[in-house]
Amino acid sequence: MNRTNSLSLADPFPQIATRNTALVRCSSYNPLEVRQALRRGIDLLGSLEQTIRPGDTVLLKPNLLTAKEPERAITTHPEIISAVGEMVLDCRGKIILGDSPGGQARDLPKYWDKTGMTGAAARLGIKPVSFEDAGIVSFPMPEGFVGISRIALEADVIINLPKLKTHQLTRLTGAVKNMFGTVPGFRKGEIHARAPQPLHFAQFLIAIYQQVIPALTIMDAIIAMEGNGPSSGHPRPLGALLFSQDALALDSLAAKLVGMEETRLPVFQAAEQVGLWDFNHNGLPVLGEDPLELAVTDFKMPDVHRLDRIPPFLLRSLKKLIWVRPKADPALCTSCARCVQNCPEDAMWFKKGIPQIDYHACIKCGCCDEFCPERAIYQEMSRLAKFFA
Ligand code: SF4
Ligand code: SF4
Repeated sequence: MNRTNSLSLADPFPQIATRNTALVRCSSYNPLEVRQALRRGIDLLGSLEQTIRPGDTVLLKPNLLTAKEPERAITTHPEIISAVGEMVLDCRGKIILGDSPGGQARDLPKYWDKTGMTGAAARLGIKPVSFEDAGIVSFPMPEGFVGISRIALEADVIINLPKLKTHQLTRLTGAVKNMFGTVPGFRKGEIHARAPQPLHFAQFLIAIYQQVIPALTIMDAIIAMEGNGPSSGHPRPLGALLFSQDALALDSLAAKLVGMEETRLPVFQAAEQVGLWDFNHNGLPVLGEDPLELAVTDFKMPDVHRLDRIPPFLLRSLKKLIWVRPKADPALCTSCARCVQNCPEDAMWFKKGIPQIDYHACIKCGCCDEFCPERAIYQEMSRLAKFFA
């Protein structure tokens, strides 16, 4: 069973006003700069020795969404893994580095290699582990059961290492959403199928998060992703590392940096429903830099976000005319079939080597976009949607 952190063992969800976050400037992935920034952020919150006892198993949980180079800003940068891992070793913790990309478990060594995790793990004297290999424990969730990796559940301490990115379904993918990766492989698709609406999906995210609460979250926002994240967006330098012992508080700070309103983000809506969040808070404590100095006002949202500006009654009554939907670009598609194989609704098939989509069956989960290694899935907008956007 995970320990959360020494400051909140008795109460893993303290009052919002006491949920500290820290924000530290870090302009590059230069190893020395990353280490100095990490040390500063952790010291602002306390110390790692308070959280990790000698002999503890410490799971480092990055975001390894897809097998792409770190420069694409889809995955947590390996320099952060190396540096945090060294600090864990200094505390005499035993490191486990693991994640589970979505879809079918195959080619995992390719994920580790491309994302730089093989090198980071080698520098720490370990090998990355696959969440699929050690089995799952099933938990009752809003409907039915969800299997969570035994590795994540049995680690003494989890250090959550997400990337700051946009997300077409949840708008922001950050600290809480990163724990969805503890649900191995294809089971993630099952949850998308069971919970196609953003709020419903976020209810699952919160329920999963409550089973695997990280002791510490450090978010890589040195180079974030804007636009059509989590995999088809564009790198956006923000020059920041975010820290908190509370993943929701950290997501709140991340939202603030990129100009997203908490009240519009499904993760906070779901958290509030179960008493883990309160939209009436008067701001969270932020140690270190002033968020106003690192915040940006022109962070690009996913294309689907434009529909948020349209009043719901209009969207409902004109839904045949106002739409944003995924489509494969024949100029970029290599017919690799990853999208077709991982669509949770079996809504995709091939015609002349290009994926087609049954829009009656499509639940707009964004999985095809996430899985596409070529950025070949884009969001097609109807004329009226473009007009309103
Ligand atoms: S077509 Fe894409 S967005 Fe639609 S259900 Fe399948 S994976 Fe999800
Ligand atoms: S995942 Fe991308 S490249 Fe592969 S078949 Fe689908 S659209 Fe084409």
